[in-house]
Amino acid sequence: MKEQNMHDARPAGKEIAYVTGGASGIGYATARRLAVAGFRVAILDLGEDRVQAAAGELSALGLDAQGYVADVRDREALAGIMDGEGRVDVVVCAAGVYTPRQFDEISDEDFRRTVDVNLLGVFVPAQEGARRMRPGGRIVTVSSRGALGGYGFADYVASKAGVIGLTRAMALELRPRRIAVNSIAPGFTDTPMTRTMPPDQYAKAVALEPGGAPATPDDIAVAIEFFASPATKFITGQTLFVDGGKSLGGLGI
Ligand code: NAP
Repeated sequence: MKEQNMHDARPAGKEIAYVTGGASGIGYATARRLAVAGFRVAILDLGEDRVQAAAGELSALGLDAQGYVADVRDREALAGIMDGEGRVDVVVCAAGVYTPRQFDEISDEDFRRTVDVNLLGVFVPAQEGARRMRPGGRIVTVSSRGALGGYGFADYVASKAGVIGLTRAMALELRPRRIAVNSIAPGFTDTPMTRTMPPDQYAKAVALEPGGAPATPDDIAVAIEFFASPATKFITGQTLFVDGGKSLGGLGI
């Protein structure tokens, strides 16, 4: 009963969802889904043109979206955006970087940059969001099936395994405040990120998919929307693999 009352402490009115990496790929599909579901959506990404185009596309559909250019590691910028919007109900941490490189070729600088964006870049918006959330708030991080391992992207694997650990730690510490924190681990998905792969590598990755095709961004966004929903308030600290069965073993690599 007490828990129900705490959830009722959420202020009335439209909930606001912040989506990092929201101007591209999985983040954009998520922003669109959440806006259709009735959220006001704040799209946070790099590149003024891309951000305004993404927000403009949603606004043209009659949806409530606002674009902001912000680096996910820029705490001051994120805090200013959240304070300007006035409330935080959901934070989706979808921004990320990926560069295929063999283990032996990864420099310290490469490693630092990947971990900086993919892990610190989850920690900062999640922490700023949690500080402003009322009971009932939700944080959704985006890890990767790659957190289980894979060839040619050890820095990325490490960063995405870190996201799962961070998600579990945040979930436990934020549970007394009734803030749910969960993660989605997408499998191979057709987005601008994976389209940077050389075509032969892209084809090889597709061939390893049990279903013979990559996910669409919306295949992933539907799962993010689930964790962003207020109905999932008793689910926390979980990682949902949305990978068409790839993590089940079968084909192996
Ligand atoms: P995407 O289309 O490249 O979208 C990622 C967005 O994040 C891009 O707009 C990117 O901007 C932005 N971003 C990068 N660094 C940023 C920073 N420091 N601050 C703010 N924004 C930044 O890639 P996606 O495939 O949709 O990926 C979304 C998430 O899913 C990522 O976390 C990715 O690791 C994860 N994921 C993807 C796949 C897949 O197969 N696609 C699989 C598993 C997990 P720039 O383009 O300028 O870098």
